[in-house]
Amino acid sequence: MKSSEIRKLYLDFFKNKGHIVKPSDSLIPSNDPTLLFTSAGMVQFKPMYIAEGEIEFTRATTCQKCFRTVDLERVGKTSRHHTFFEMLGNFSFGDYFKKEAIEWAWEFIYSVLKLPKEHLWISVYKEDDEAFDIWNKYIGISENKIVRLGKEDNFWGPVSEEGGPCGPCSEIYIDFGPSHGCGKSDCKPGCDCERFAEFWNLVFPTYNADPSGKLHPLAKRGVDTGMGLERIASILQGVNDNFEIDIIKPIVMEVANLVEGKYESNVPLKIIADHVRAMTFLICDGVFPLNEGRGYVLRRIIRRAVRFGKLLGIEKPFLYKLTGNVVDIMKSAYPELNERRINISQVVLQEEERFHETLNQGMNILEELIAKYKNVIPGIEVFRLYDTFGFPLELTKEIVEEKGVKVDEKGFNECLEKQQEKARKAWKGTGDKEISSIINKFGETKFVGYEVFETESKVIGILKGNLLIETATCNEEVSLILDKTPFYGESGGQVGDTGLIKKDGFIGVVLDTEKYLQKLILHRVKVKEGKIKVGDIVRAMLDIERRRAIMRNHTATHLLQYALREILGSHVTQSGSYVGPEYFRFDFTHYKAVTKLELDKVEQMINEKVVQNLPVIVKEMKIEDAKKLGALAFFGEKYGEFVRVVQIGEISKEFCGGTHVKNIGEIGLVKVISESSVSSGIRRIEAVTGMNSYRMVKEQNDILKDISTTLKVEYKKIPVKIEKMIDTIRDLEKEVERLKRGEGTFKVDEIIKDVKKIKDVNVIIKNINTDVHSLRDIGDKIKNKLNSCCVILFTVRDDRLSYICMVTKDLLKEINALSIVKGIAKIVGGGGGGKADLAEGGARSINDLSKVLKETENVVKEVIEGRKEL
Ligand code: ATP
Ligand code: MG
Repeated sequence: MKSSEIRKLYLDFFKNKGHIVKPSDSLIPSNDPTLLFTSAGMVQFKPMYIAEGEIEFTRATTCQKCFRTVDLERVGKTSRHHTFFEMLGNFSFGDYFKKEAIEWAWEFIYSVLKLPKEHLWISVYKEDDEAFDIWNKYIGISENKIVRLGKEDNFWGPVSEEGGPCGPCSEIYIDFGPSHGCGKSDCKPGCDCERFAEFWNLVFPTYNADPSGKLHPLAKRGVDTGMGLERIASILQGVNDNFEIDIIKPIVMEVANLVEGKYESNVPLKIIADHVRAMTFLICDGVFPLNEGRGYVLRRIIRRAVRFGKLLGIEKPFLYKLTGNVVDIMKSAYPELNERRINISQVVLQEEERFHETLNQGMNILEELIAKYKNVIPGIEVFRLYDTFGFPLELTKEIVEEKGVKVDEKGFNECLEKQQEKARKAWKGTGDKEISSIINKFGETKFVGYEVFETESKVIGILKGNLLIETATCNEEVSLILDKTPFYGESGGQVGDTGLIKKDGFIGVVLDTEKYLQKLILHRVKVKEGKIKVGDIVRAMLDIERRRAIMRNHTATHLLQYALREILGSHVTQSGSYVGPEYFRFDFTHYKAVTKLELDKVEQMINEKVVQNLPVIVKEMKIEDAKKLGALAFFGEKYGEFVRVVQIGEISKEFCGGTHVKNIGEIGLVKVISESSVSSGIRRIEAVTGMNSYRMVKEQNDILKDISTTLKVEYKKIPVKIEKMIDTIRDLEKEVERLKRGEGTFKVDEIIKDVKKIKDVNVIIKNINTDVHSLRDIGDKIKNKLNSCCVILFTVRDDRLSYICMVTKDLLKEINALSIVKGIAKIVGGGGGGKADLAEGGARSINDLSKVLKETENVVKEVIEGRKEL
């Protein structure tokens, strides 16, 4: 039975049992932006179990794409673990419970799939008599085929550290027979060997775990089952090895072909096949190789696969081609793969190339390290490999562990932290102790700048550098801490506010505002007038116009994210931003440059929404509720229990602490100014709004008007006109070149008319306007025409005077060119060099050149008369 048939049978079966068939969620969980990957079918339904009151449906069934990092190192070593796999599941939210779940599971495997009853085993949670009895009494499984297992195996969840639904579970196993096993007499389900393979887990979510691990009764207890598609396929296809099934074997074979069947073990083949499947699906769902978060996991598996390829003797990028095989095998079930096939392979190729560049070098160094340290490789060395050669810690670990060597992980993490700390310190340097004493004394600064732009506040602390001080006087620069403030402290990409802090006889200019430890807001103030001391009551007034410009830009970033996701796809996620008063910048994940057409569409979509003047609604809510709403969060950011959700009409919802306009009409025209690359997989768009875009458009318009007046054409015809002008200029340049060449010969004839006789010698002394290189040419021509002569030529170009002296052979006894050039050099304060027949020199340009020519004549005379020597 083909995998595709199993998928269909399963979903149809549960559809007939009243389940709604839901599509697979993305591998990036859409309901829980703080979770790394979708690791089970229930992830997309987590909120349904917790929901109080009505929900849309109470039964669902899916075939869910899953990715598990925890199983990474088991891949290839067992016959049934993958990083990426598909999970078939049926779910009940406050609807049916254990009895139906077990009954239908049995019906499906026994009546539909016709698995042999004698080979099936069951496990239940050790305290779950209810499940035991259903299997035993109701279904009729004999007691000795039901094992009771502990928490480790038969209590499932929660999926994330923050807690969530969990409960006892019951697993269904197949016995592959003693030949697959460890041989122990008590071998049964739960044993680590390969004999009993779990393929279906029926979970009964009963509790809601809080972040501390405490269990509370679940609002909607129910059912959550998961059956690995690959595992059931391996049973039904009679191969008993996931890597032998119809949708994986062809990939393994492809790798085998690449190495022409030359391999000792097929473990590396399996690992590569698994990782290629995983990278294909991850990239398709919008993950890119990066140094953190999800991207880091992807980078790890690509680099791990490259390394296993290398162990097989593959020295060139190859994974990128295999992604195409995955697409072909899986595209009927996941059509989105085909749409992105080229991009997927490009992303993989880029990452492969990048790693290949440093792989050999890194491996050599690693080998030296293994030889040098023998037992444990110091953290700093492992960090260097990571930092310089792109070796993920886990990869280094694996490689050295194969040789029985360990790495100092703690040391590595310290180095990593130090590096990050350094980066942080680079822009912040305040005394922690003082600050925490203020927090202890006064609590946090209350930020009221969402609603008001001006407050009456009390000064609760003054910082100078790292020190707490009591008063600040004129011209001092200090950080003021107030009990409450309208000033926004720089965070989440939005810059800090500026403005004034005043009281009678005191004016402080707020140059910038920073947030400190998420608790205090520091106003960097330059005292302009008077004095300020702790305890003073002041008026804090921010620069409203500047702030409004910032708000326009901030709301526009949300609109931009919305439009990008609409036009480019939902793989677009924010990876950074800058929101200032002049412009904003938005960095996001995307695998290639955004085309002009796409960018135009994005810009148009944003401006269409702006003129609809949608309202911006801001709500504080529990993080759980925000996730339920489907609000976009910034992955990797730590959020507290309560979050702020900024919603624009019905089109955009984001976790955001920034300041926003009330209605998006306020934003005015949004103009994109640039689109560029930040790093591989990350693009950047910069744009302007409000008065800034007005000014930009106005300025461009004025320039166009000027041009059209100067060119005397209407502005639409400017491009054509300019093209014509460029053609004309090109023609003219050619003409000038031609004429210049002709001018050379003409000059020689002119010049020799001015030949002088000095002591019977033909002498030419001339300033000719030409480039330096032509001096010799012209000199030669003159020599040829006059046969016997001494030629001295000058030219001035680019503020430099150059001169040359040439003497025909017959005169060498009487005249030395070098003596003449040295004589000229003396006159003009320059230099010179050469031989008796040809010497050259140069100096800074001279105002009165005719005087120089006269004096040169004297030099020649002196040389001929023998009065001047070298
Ligand atoms: P195992 O103990 O074999 O790792 P598990 O207890 O971690 O399995 P569950 O979390 O209960 O598995 O997942 C439900 C089902 O998903 C399993 O019964 C199995 O069929 C499948 N499954 C789990 N992990 C993997 C994996 N890494 N690769 C393939 N299938 C898996
Ligand atoms: Mg497991």
